[in-house]
Amino acid sequence: MKLARLGKFGFEKPAIVISDTEAVFVDDVVADFNRETLSNGAIEKLRKIDLDNKPKVKISDYRLGSPLARPTKAICVGLNYAKHAKEAGVEPPVEPIIFMKAPDTVVGGFDDIIIPPNSVKTDYEVELCVVISKDALYLDSPKDSKNYILGYTISQDISERHWQLERSGQWVKGKSFPNYNPIGPWIITEDSFDASDVRLWTNVDGEKRQDSRTSDLIFDVDYCIWYVSQFMQLNAGDIINTGTPEGVGMGFKPEKYLKAGQVVETGIDGIGVIKSNVVDYK
Ligand code: MG
Repeated sequence: MKLARLGKFGFEKPAIVISDTEAVFVDDVVADFNRETLSNGAIEKLRKIDLDNKPKVKISDYRLGSPLARPTKAICVGLNYAKHAKEAGVEPPVEPIIFMKAPDTVVGGFDDIIIPPNSVKTDYEVELCVVISKDALYLDSPKDSKNYILGYTISQDISERHWQLERSGQWVKGKSFPNYNPIGPWIITEDSFDASDVRLWTNVDGEKRQDSRTSDLIFDVDYCIWYVSQFMQLNAGDIINTGTPEGVGMGFKPEKYLKAGQVVETGIDGIGVIKSNVVDYK
């Protein structure tokens, strides 16, 4: 099952995607996709719907919004691909590096990436994004994590490297500007997707910059969920950006940061493609 939210910003309605081009609105069954509804059996209710008896709409007639309404936590795993750690000039971590983004950075997968005023190092990061299905705290082992995954989507963990790495303090500063986390185009539920070895990539203006596989993750999805749950409670609708592979702008010599007018296309096999225009902050 694929879950999307279609409509103008702030007025999206929940829908189930039934083909590459068509969806069915389900707002009569589930008010929205958020912590409250997902904690209260939204997925079970959706599975009982007879989709054949509901009107179909063309996805292209709508804006694809963030497939989640206001995720309450946006947790990120840093340096989780060995080659990316190398291009960043550091040793691969011995434990997952966990940090947070402001959760209201999350926007739709086709919304603009905004270059902040005075930014000189805005960078892209394709990531497999895991969506949590229910409260998870202090899981016994990574084997238990599967029971807490709602599904997966594509994420761009946009980052201002100067703010992230060359100013003092935590990475959160370089990760939290408005629109810094396009996700989408939809959530594919965990029963329809095997995350263990899928290709993920980023193109900038058609040039392939990142092209790797999730099998190269140092700490896999199950391990990351278990690990995070040792320190905080995960809730339905929280997201975990599981890390980006090599090929970010920072890793090139000379560095290749984003500029207004460029187009960032991001894909994960089995989920789809998202695409954002890069614009200057106004
Ligand atoms: Mg990242």
